[in-house]
Amino acid sequence: MKKPIIGIAGDIFIENKVPVIGCEYDYFKNNYAEAIINGGGIPIYIPVVYDISILMDQLSICDGLLVPGGQDINPLMYGEEPKPLLQSTIPKVDKFQILLIKYALSSNKPILTICRGTQILNVALGGTLYQDISYAVNNPIQHNQLTELCNVSHSIEINKTSLLYKLFGEYLLVNSAHHQCINKLGTGLSISALAPDGIVEGIESKNNKFVVGVQWHPEMLLGNESNMIPLFQKFIEATNFV
Ligand code: MN
Repeated sequence: MKKPIIGIAGDIFIENKVPVIGCEYDYFKNNYAEAIINGGGIPIYIPVVYDISILMDQLSICDGLLVPGGQDINPLMYGEEPKPLLQSTIPKVDKFQILLIKYALSSNKPILTICRGTQILNVALGGTLYQDISYAVNNPIQHNQLTELCNVSHSIEINKTSLLYKLFGEYLLVNSAHHQCINKLGTGLSISALAPDGIVEGIESKNNKFVVGVQWHPEMLLGNESNMIPLFQKFIEATNFV
């Protein structure tokens, strides 16, 4: 039987060194592909494009969409001015990923979002971000761990009514590599997990069959103490091909 095809939303790396300065490289971290294969799917990459009809055709061959981690999101996307701790952004990647998410939602394709992917899912649905965690809470825990991401770093508490709870129960140890976080929730989204300092670590949509966002990096925790393969399996099962 054919395995589900999972599109990984594109990102761009703009080279800043001669002799190829200004070149825009498609930028994909292989760990996402490995995680999709572990979950039973076939990963493909969706390069950043600006033509909506091509974007829709790209998505039409995918059974599900994974939106990966990446750079900061331009705050103009959610109607805010930049604050001093904002890091670099690529607005055309933001626009592409927001369109991709909107079309995936309208065609009810399962969506798994990770780190920045979860933040842009929230923005795509009208939500906002804190441009740095220090703007969100006074005494945050460390969310940019200094150990390798294959190690867990902090705990989260999971909402009992969430899909995440069915997979992992009430408490989970996760890794952490983010300096921004969710502020106002987008339409139809609910919080599925919180860190001990109150930072949002998971969101879900109840309006779709599988729209799950996590703030940590499950693709870096395959098969170790917080085994994240069930999350990828559940995502890929939701495509109804298996
Ligand atoms: Mn965190």
